[in-house]
Amino acid sequence: MAVAFRSSRTSGGAGGDGGGESVSFERALLSGLAPGGGLYLPDRIPPLPRGWREHSDLPSLAASLLAPWIGEPSGEELDSLLREALYFPVPVVPLARDRWVVELFHGPTLSFKDFGARVMARLMNRYLAGSGRSLTVLVATSGDTGSAVADGFAGLENLRVVLLYPKGKVSEVQERQLTARRPGVHALAVRGDFDDCQRMVKEAFADPALAHVPLSSANSINVGRLLPQQLYYVWAVARLQQQFGSRSDDPVVSVPSGNLGNLTAGLLAAAGGLPVGRFIAAHNANDYFPSYLNGNADAFEFRPTRHTLSNAMDVGAPSNFERLHALFPDLGERVHPESVDDDATRERMRRVHREDGYVACPHTAVGLEAIERYRAATGSTAPALALATAHPAKFPGVVAGALGIEPPRSETLDELLNARASALELGAACEDLRQVLLGLD
Ligand SMILES: *Cc1c(COP(=O)(O)O)cnc(C)c1O
Repeated sequence: MAVAFRSSRTSGGAGGDGGGESVSFERALLSGLAPGGGLYLPDRIPPLPRGWREHSDLPSLAASLLAPWIGEPSGEELDSLLREALYFPVPVVPLARDRWVVELFHGPTLSFKDFGARVMARLMNRYLAGSGRSLTVLVATSGDTGSAVADGFAGLENLRVVLLYPKGKVSEVQERQLTARRPGVHALAVRGDFDDCQRMVKEAFADPALAHVPLSSANSINVGRLLPQQLYYVWAVARLQQQFGSRSDDPVVSVPSGNLGNLTAGLLAAAGGLPVGRFIAAHNANDYFPSYLNGNADAFEFRPTRHTLSNAMDVGAPSNFERLHALFPDLGERVHPESVDDDATRERMRRVHREDGYVACPHTAVGLEAIERYRAATGSTAPALALATAHPAKFPGVVAGALGIEPPRSETLDELLNARASALELGAACEDLRQVLLGLD
């Protein structure tokens, strides 16, 4: 039996909004949010497949991990879908003092968001093809999600992407990544800020004039993005065990965190039996989650977003918190939280460059700094895995500012930066977006 999904808000009762109904993975993936605005939760967490330590390639591990979660597709079909999605490597790079960097940035848009976006896109496409439908995916973005989704969904026959970003408010590298021409992708440069983009997306979903246009979203609360992200936790722990056998100490894993999707995926893998000693939730100055775990903030008492060097983690109200909170009542025992400010981030970038010869992006540096703090606070001698969530070449300004050097080049990024770009500029009213959506063929 495949896993069923049910809303995190099931109490509705008299309202009868159907929030308590459980649905298949396919339904949860295609609808994104549960009725009533809840997040989909699995009704059980399947154990890791036997032999998870033995896989020597990522797609085959991914297929055996996902099969019990999703039901369909399976076998050969799932295998070839995942081979297309996950064609890039995940190197586990040793540093000194029993630390390893798990490089999740070798996909087409150079952040870990490629994993979730590419797998989700192909599963969506497969489910739509099965029922002869097509969908337009709307994304408001200021960073890595937009380019990962645009790239991951491009060229799939049953899907189209409309991407909104705030004109003049993203970095040059980000803008080139977002606007590189891709089949089936429409980039919109909105004269407004990120909140305007998000509001326009919400309004489009509620717009009666668009009721006949099938829309979906692809943000990090979608289970279709979340579940595939378990893959690299299992992959990295398996690599360590292959190298050292099962050591007495299970590794700790540091996760640079914002919306907490990545951490949720790791906790799911651990609940399925992956031996992880402790997760470290490594946040920047946006410290809602550390404050909550340290007892200094009430649940759901969110905060305004603060701008930092690690901007993909600038999240005041983490969208996966509700799911984490519902799934893991004992969060405090599984997760050690840290909040790292920009000065400490720069200093960690310098130290890891000086001591290990490694150039880390600012997000990865937050994770590396959090490992040092965790070790200092607990005396832990367990091996530590640091998830490297983005390629340093995406942040040339920050790397130059901290290290006084250019980041290592990425051919993939150079290609993207040289691709033909196109974006349609528009105003920030809901009519502006409506016109675009009605005009799509
Ligand atoms: C999105 C992102 C994060 C945060 O991941 P969450 O799943 O939102 O916690 C960290 N680093 C980078 C580079 C990102 O793009």
